[in-house]
Amino acid sequence: MGTVSISLSSDFARAVPEMAVSWEAARVPQPALLVLNEPLAKELGLDPAWLRSDGLPFLVGNEAPGVAQAYAGHQFGGYSPRLGDGRALLLGELTHADGHLRDLHLKGSGRTPFARGGDGLAAVGPMLREYVLSEAMHALGIPTTRSLAVVATGAVVHRETPLPGAVLARVASSHLRVGSFQYARNTGDPDLLRRLADHAIARHYPGSTYLELFEQVVAAQAALVAQWMLVGFIHGVMNTDNMTISGETIDYGPCAFMEAYDPATVYSSIDHRGRYAYGNQPIIAEWNLARLAEALLPLFADDEDRAVSLAVEALRTFEGQFERAWLDGLQAKLGGAGDVQLVKDLLALMHANHVDFTSFFHRLSAAARGDAEPARSLFLDLAGIDDWIGRWRALAPDADAMDRVNPVYVPRNHLVEEALAAGSAGDLGPLERLLEAVTAPYGERPGLEYFAAPAPQDFSATYQTFCGT
Ligand code: AMP
Ligand code: MG
Repeated sequence: MGTVSISLSSDFARAVPEMAVSWEAARVPQPALLVLNEPLAKELGLDPAWLRSDGLPFLVGNEAPGVAQAYAGHQFGGYSPRLGDGRALLLGELTHADGHLRDLHLKGSGRTPFARGGDGLAAVGPMLREYVLSEAMHALGIPTTRSLAVVATGAVVHRETPLPGAVLARVASSHLRVGSFQYARNTGDPDLLRRLADHAIARHYPGSTYLELFEQVVAAQAALVAQWMLVGFIHGVMNTDNMTISGETIDYGPCAFMEAYDPATVYSSIDHRGRYAYGNQPIIAEWNLARLAEALLPLFADDEDRAVSLAVEALRTFEGQFERAWLDGLQAKLGGAGDVQLVKDLLALMHANHVDFTSFFHRLSAAARGDAEPARSLFLDLAGIDDWIGRWRALAPDADAMDRVNPVYVPRNHLVEEALAAGSAGDLGPLERLLEAVTAPYGERPGLEYFAAPAPQDFSATYQTFCGT
C-alpha cells in the first residue's frame, strides 16, 4: 500500500508546551497485531487494512515522535507534584467522524522523562484488559476512552514473572486530567494555568467561563460516577491523575465489575483501606473535584475569599446531581417503578443475600412479566424478596424498558481473567468471544449463557486485581 500520510494535530503541545515533552516511542522491530477495533478505526478515518499491515509501525509510535504529557496527582490521598506519562505518549489529535478531536495515545511505548523507576513497558494481559473493559463500558453507553488496538512488541516485560509486552493504542476526547490542572497550578505560573484552562474550554466546553468550566466538570463527573454505580463498575484507582476533565472513564488498571452487591467491595490488591471501594466512589469523586477547584481558584476571581465561595457553591451541587442521576437510573432499571424507599429496601435485601448485581436486574424483567422465579431464586430470604416484588409489581413496571437498560453481559472478572490468560499465551479466541458478548450487552442471545453466569463461588471469594501493570 506504500505511504499513507496521517495528519495529526498537536493542539495540546501548542497550547501548553511546558507540559509537553517531545519524545520517541521505543523501537518495535517486529510488531504483531493482537486486536484491532475496526469500527473505531473507520470513525477516525484510518483504514483498517492499512493498520493491519503497513500501518503497524504507526500504531506503535515508530513513524513520528509524540509527546509525554506532564501532570501531577493525589494518589491514595498523597500528593505527587510530578507524575506525567511515564510509559505513554500522545501521538496527536485526529478528527473523529462526529467532527470533534480525539487524542491518539499509546500506553506501553517505553520510558519517558516521567518514568522515574518504571520500565516504561506494558504487558499483553493488562493492555487486553483495558481493551475489553473500555469497549464494554462504551457499549453500555458510559463515557470512556476507547481502545483502537493492542500490538504485541515481542519484548519481555519483567513483573513477578516474565511476560510478553504490548502497546495499547487508545483514543480519548482528551487526556486532560484533574492532575493536569494541579501540575499547572503547582508551577506557580498563572499564565500556564490560564492557557491550560482555555485549551480545556475550547476542547470540551466551548464558550464557558472558568467557573462554568468547573461546573461542567462537576456535572460530567456526577453523571459518570452515577453510571458506574448503576452497572456495578469499580474503577479501583480514582487518583486525581486518573480523573478526566471531559467526564470520560480513564485508566483501566485494577478496575472490575462487582458481582454480589456490597458497597464495601474492593478488588484492588493495593487498596488496603478500601478508599476506592464501590460505595465510596461518589465521595471520592467529590474529593477529587475539590482538588480541581483548588487548582482553578485563581481563575475564578481576583479576591481569594470570593473565589473560594464560588468554588464551594459549585462543588456543593455535586451530591444532588449525583443522587438525582443515581435514583433516576435505578428507577429506569426497575422499569419506571420505584420510589426511594423501595430502592433502599431492595439494596438492603440484595446486600444481605449476596445477590449478583447484574443477574438480578436482568432477571427481574421476567418478574414484571409474571415469572418471579428467576429473580427470587437468587435470594435466601424468600419471604423478603416476595414481599418486595409484590410491592414493586403493584407499580406496573415496564419489562421491555428494563431489558433496554439492564445489561445481560458485562466483563465478569472470571471471564476477563480467562480471556487474558489465553491471550497472553497466544490464543485470542476467548477474548474475541468475550468481546462479542460484552460489546452488545443488552438482550439475551442464545449460545451466550456462559457469559451471563456469575463466577463460581471460590473464584469470587479471593479475586484480586493488580495495579502494577
Ligand atoms: P497509573 O497508576 O497507571 O495511573 O500510573 C501512575 C503513574 O505511574 C503515571 O505517571 C504513570 O505514567 C506511571 N507508570 C505506571 N507504570 C509505569 C511503568 N511501567 N513505567 C513508567 N511509568 C509508569
Ligand atoms: Mg494513570
